[in-house]
Amino acid sequence: MHIRNDYTDLIIAQFDEIRRNAHYALDERRRQVYDKCPEIKELDIMVARNSFDRAKRSILHDDPSALDGLDEENRSIAAEKEKLLVANGFPSDYLKLRYECDKCKDTGYVGNVPCSCFKKALSRLLLKDSNMMRLLETQNFDTFDASLFSDDPAEKDDTLGATPYKNILSVLAEAKQFVRDFDKKHGNILIYGQTGVGKTFISSCIAKALLDSSHSVLYHTASTLFGTLENKRFRNGDPDALSKEEAHIFECDLLIIDDLGSEFYTQFTASALFDVINERLLAGKSTIISTNLSFEEIIDSYSERTYSRIYKHYDMFKIIGTDLRTMP
Ligand SMILES: [Zn+2]
Repeated sequence: MHIRNDYTDLIIAQFDEIRRNAHYALDERRRQVYDKCPEIKELDIMVARNSFDRAKRSILHDDPSALDGLDEENRSIAAEKEKLLVANGFPSDYLKLRYECDKCKDTGYVGNVPCSCFKKALSRLLLKDSNMMRLLETQNFDTFDASLFSDDPAEKDDTLGATPYKNILSVLAEAKQFVRDFDKKHGNILIYGQTGVGKTFISSCIAKALLDSSHSVLYHTASTLFGTLENKRFRNGDPDALSKEEAHIFECDLLIIDDLGSEFYTQFTASALFDVINERLLAGKSTIISTNLSFEEIIDSYSERTYSRIYKHYDMFKIIGTDLRTMP
């Protein structure tokens, strides 16, 4: 799978900035320390001068032995510096660079493989483009208000045997369980129900919780998902030439496909949906689909085999209630 560089340059620039800021912060800490404890400054100057003199000798006189014992000397000076730091009330690692990600030292890569923090950065960029970020600020487990759902027995759903309120409490509990089990089970969810009953809200809650625990999450409406796949594939004329953005559809930890059935339906959307669902299942990656469609309509609009994948591998969350958007 080739990956084009649509977002890579942007992310690399972000990592450059993170590293630059880390160096600025270190310079600032060093200034503080030098002010309070000039001996440390002298030790630093000594190390720099000693290393420079020896390197010069080694090069000018072609004498590699000039460097003998230098590492050891520097180590013992470093130990002395740490002691001085602590004696002056600083943490012993105060003059070390601090990384946001220790795994990749803020380079975004571990060897040739993108680090998990790189994938998270990509998720955030793609989410920002999809406006999901703004949604996540307002729609999360902390802001979900179950009391908006009626507990009137007259509104009990026959198949669920629960009022909208009791039902949403159990959906919320399962959604939280889904987040807790995420790394173990790689679960999938189909959220279905009428328009405006809070399906996207539930997806947002899960997305926010997983982003907060450093997972990569990608949000698409069905239209933008198929639009992304279709454009890239046809524009390049090369089905293997996936853009970073397109590859992320298959590789992110959680893909949310919102409002399935709202897109312009074509033969392409039916086969693309199957590919996405199937490839993600095979890769052990989680997917959440929300839709107003009934199961029969899913079979009719997409295919029996797509539905059977969903039926077998997805938890089904039915949400009932009145359209929350019309409520005062
Ligand atoms: Zn990293």
